[in-house]
Amino acid sequence: MIKHDILIVGGGLTGLRAAVGLCDRFDVGLVSKVYPTRSHSIAAQGGINAPLANNPDSRDDTWEKHTFDTVKGSDYLADQDAAELMCREAAPIVYEMEHWGCPFSRFADGTIAQRPFGGAGYPRTCYSADITGHVLLNTLYERAVAKGVKIYPEWFVTALSIEAGQCHGVVVLDMRTGELIPVAAGTTFFGTGGYGRVFQHSTNALINTGSGIGMAYAAGAPLKDMEFVQFHPTCLIGTSILMTEGCRGEGGYLVNNQGERFMQRYAPTAMELAPRDIVSRCIQTEINEGRGFEHPLGTYIQLDLRHLGAQKIQERLCGIRQISIDFVGVDPVDEPIPIRPAQHYSMGGIDVDIRCASEVRGFYTGGECSCVSVHGANRLGGNSLLDTIVFGKVASRTIGEDPEVRTRRPDERALLKLKEEVERTLRKLASPGSERPALLQAELSAMMSEKVGIFRTREELTQALQKVIEFKERYRSVGVTSAARHMNYELTGAVELGYMLEVAHTIVLGAILREESRGSHFRLDFNTRNDADWLKHTIARMGSDGSPAISFKEVTITRYEPKERKY
Ligand SMILES: Cc1cc2nc3c(=O)[nH]c(=O)nc-3n(C[C@H](O)[C@H](O)[C@H](O)COP(=O)(O)OP(=O)(O)OC[C@H]3O[C@@H](n4cnc5c(N)ncnc54)[C@H](O)[C@@H]3O)c2cc1C
Repeated sequence: MIKHDILIVGGGLTGLRAAVGLCDRFDVGLVSKVYPTRSHSIAAQGGINAPLANNPDSRDDTWEKHTFDTVKGSDYLADQDAAELMCREAAPIVYEMEHWGCPFSRFADGTIAQRPFGGAGYPRTCYSADITGHVLLNTLYERAVAKGVKIYPEWFVTALSIEAGQCHGVVVLDMRTGELIPVAAGTTFFGTGGYGRVFQHSTNALINTGSGIGMAYAAGAPLKDMEFVQFHPTCLIGTSILMTEGCRGEGGYLVNNQGERFMQRYAPTAMELAPRDIVSRCIQTEINEGRGFEHPLGTYIQLDLRHLGAQKIQERLCGIRQISIDFVGVDPVDEPIPIRPAQHYSMGGIDVDIRCASEVRGFYTGGECSCVSVHGANRLGGNSLLDTIVFGKVASRTIGEDPEVRTRRPDERALLKLKEEVERTLRKLASPGSERPALLQAELSAMMSEKVGIFRTREELTQALQKVIEFKERYRSVGVTSAARHMNYELTGAVELGYMLEVAHTIVLGAILREESRGSHFRLDFNTRNDADWLKHTIARMGSDGSPAISFKEVTITRYEPKERKY
C-alpha cells in the first residue's frame, strides 16, 4: 500500500495547480492515467479570461463586470458568490502564471494581449496564439517538477474509497506493471476532467471519459447539474475538432448557404459573439431549416476568416489553419471552414462548495470534473481555464488550512476491501463475454449525441433513458479479449465504460426532470426559462436500486437578479 497525506488525481491544470500549492508543506502524491502534459488541458486553444483592461476597448473592465457576464452567461444558474470569487482571482492568477514563465501573446506596448470572446462585455480573453492550454499546462508542469511533486504517470484510478462519510484514497492500476495498488490518503483531490466522450461528436480527447465523475458518484458523492452539457458552435465537420471561439473573437463570420451572416437575425448586437448555447442553437436551426451546405461528412455552416487576411490568420490562428488544411483540405486563408456544433464541456460535475469541499470528509474536487458552480447552465469561453487554475489554487488553500490534514487517518481496511472488489471486477471483465466494450461505448455515445443533444424533448429523453438502462444491463456481459493487466487499454476502457454509463444516466434523468429551457439545456416542449420552479440546482445521488435519485439545492444570488438574457 502506498500512503500520502494528500493524494491528487489528475495531471491537468487543476491537479497540477493544487499540487503546486501544497507540495512545499505536505506529503503530496499526484496520480494520472496519462503523462500530465497529455491531459486535455493541453488542447485548449482560445484563451483564459481576466479583466486586465489591457485592450484599448476594455480600459474600464473590472472583476464585477466579468462576474456579471459570467452570471448572465450561466442563465443565472451559477452560484454568484462562487462566480465573484473566480473573477476576483482572475487577474492575480494570470499574472502569477506570467511570472511563472507562461509566454502569453503581447500587445505592442508589451502588456498581455486580450481578444473578445462570446458573451463578454469587453475583450478580456488573454491568450497565447491558439495554443493557450499548451503554454499554461507546460508552465505548471515545469513548476510541479521543479518543486519535486511526486508524480505517478500512467496510473489508472479504478475506484474511490468512501466509507462512513470519509474518503480513504483510491485503488489504482499501474498500467506499466499491471499491478493493483491501494493508495491511502487522509485527503483526496480529484481534478479528473470532463466526460466529453459520453457523446459521439465531441471536441474532447479520447481520454475524457468522465470516469472520475462516475467513480465519485458510484462511491457515494453526489453530482450537481449534470443535464447541462455544452455544445460548442464551431467544430470541424467529420472529426469535431475544435475551431476555437478565438476565430470569431478575431472577427470570423458565420455564414449560411444564402450567403447570410445569420446571427443578425438571432443576436443582432453580439452577432457571432453571443454565448455558445445560443450560437449552437442558431447554427443547428439553420441546418435543420435547410440553410446549411451539404458535404459527404455532414451538413455544415461556414466559418469565414478570409477577410482577416493571411497574416493575422497565420499569427493568431496558425494551429486552426493547419488543422483545417490537414483534416478537410481547406485553407482558411482562401476558403471558409466547414463547421457544425459538437459536445464540448461539462457544466455539471461532482458537487462541491465554493471551497472545493464535497460533503464527504477528506474529498475535494476542482476543474471540469466538479461543479462549484461558476458556469451554471452555460459556460462562457475562456472561463474554464480560469476555473481550473483558480479552483486548483482555492482547493490547495482549503486543504492546507484543514486542521485535520496531517492527522486524518484513512481506513486501510476499507481500501483493502475495495481492492478485492476491483480485483473481482477486473477478473470478471477479463472472462469471456458477449459484449465488446468499445462497441457498447460507441452505441452509448451515438445514442447520447442523437437523443440528448442541443434540442431535447421528453419523448427522445425517455427513449434515451430506456437505452441507458438497457446498456447498463448489457454491460454485465462485457468481456475483453486479453486478460493481460499491463497497458491493456481495452480493460481500462471497460472499467471506464461502467462509469460512463452512470454519468450518462444522471445526464439523461436530470434532462428529463428539468421541464424548462435554461442555458445549454433546451427543451422544445418547455421552451422558456422558468425561474419560479427551476431556479435551482439538481443533485444526483446513486439510489439503492442503482438509479440516480434527484434532489434540489438553492442557487446563491448575491447582487445580480435573474433577468431575461438578450445579446
Ligand atoms: C479542444 C478544447 C479546447 C479548449 N479550449 C479552451 C479555451 O481556450 N479556454 C477555456 O477556458 N477552456 C477551454 N477548454 C476547456 C478546458 O480546456 C478544460 O475544461 C480544462 O482544461 C480541464 O482541465 P482539468 O484540469 O479539469 O482536466 P484535464 O485537463 O482534462 O485533466 C484530467 C486529468 O485527470 C486524469 N484522469 C482522469 N481520469 C483518471 C483516472 N481514472 N485515473 C487516473 N487519472 C485520471 C487525466 O490523466 C488528466 O491528467 C477547451 C477544451 C477542449 C476539449
